Amino acid sequence: MAVLVTGGAGYIGSHMVWALLDQGEEVVVLDRLSTGFDWAVAEAATLVVGDVADRNLVKETIRKHEVDAIIHFAGSVIVPESVADPLGYYLNNTAKSRDLIDVAIGNGVKNFIFSSTAAVYGSPETFPVMEEAPLRPESPYGTSKLMTEMMLRDCAAAHDFRYTALRYFNVSGADPKLRTGQSTKGATHLIKVACETATGKRPYMEVFGTDYATRDGTCVRDYVHVWDLVNAHYLALQRMRDGGGSLVANCGYGQGYSVLEVIEAVRRVAGTDFEVRMSGRRPGDTVAIVASNERCRYDLGWQPKHQGLEEIVGHALGWEAKLARRNRQ
Ligand code: UDP
Repeated sequence: MAVLVTGGAGYIGSHMVWALLDQGEEVVVLDRLSTGFDWAVAEAATLVVGDVADRNLVKETIRKHEVDAIIHFAGSVIVPESVADPLGYYLNNTAKSRDLIDVAIGNGVKNFIFSSTAAVYGSPETFPVMEEAPLRPESPYGTSKLMTEMMLRDCAAAHDFRYTALRYFNVSGADPKLRTGQSTKGATHLIKVACETATGKRPYMEVFGTDYATRDGTCVRDYVHVWDLVNAHYLALQRMRDGGGSLVANCGYGQGYSVLEVIEAVRRVAGTDFEVRMSGRRPGDTVAIVASNERCRYDLGWQPKHQGLEEIVGHALGWEAKLARRNRQ
């Protein structure tokens, strides 16, 4: 029996693979290596290089490894890129997920965990945002993920199949043991960008928008440590294997930080200053969003362990240093 992790060579997926191996699971990774790296996949996992919409390959993989659960990370994740290329996002995140779900159901896989996103809420009116809040994505990225959630909901009603959709808030940090981290080239996510700037990989960074209606004018996000996040997936897997039904749950801490607060934390933890330029708003950005994580805590028994922003930043910086050493070798 094995768990199939799509996108397992990417940032979050590679952490999931380590977390599953730590628990003694057999792991198969399916990744086309478009943004991920083969070296990011732990050696104890089997890597299959290919696309989630390659129906024959997925079917063969499920059968050969007796896959009982799929954790589906593969997809595109950059909000402004989705604004510029909506159909690319509907292909990668929606149409290809449809193929994967279809082949999963057709080959007896009953448990499916899906990487969803807080972007399905758009700009929520109440804080912290509960799962019942109106779903009004403001970017093709958010819509592409919401459409996949809807397919899963309908498939779970029609077939012997259950799913957990975890709506991620801002995933950041790295494996506390630094066995993996975020290696994405040309990354756009705030903590990664700030850590790259602090370690001299970028000459400066920009703050996108300083005139939002927040405490310091910059956007507020709920930054969740990647190790806590992948542990929520493991709990979801156990719950479904034990017969638990489908579930949609937010994954965040319920604590928001502004862009400037994050930059200050990076400066503090790195013990270094770096150039920050104030810039205009970025398309598709939501002003502020913070999770209610009650469902995750009560339905999954999630107990986050790496909540401090400084711990997140410390692990992210540790990984940057390791990456720099690796790239020099
Ligand atoms: N951001 C920024 N400079 C950067 C990267 C991000 O000011 O170099 C801001 C971005 O505009 C947003 C917040 O940081 O307000 C979080 O953005 P990120 O891309 O990390 O995640 P998102 O919330 O878009 O998924």
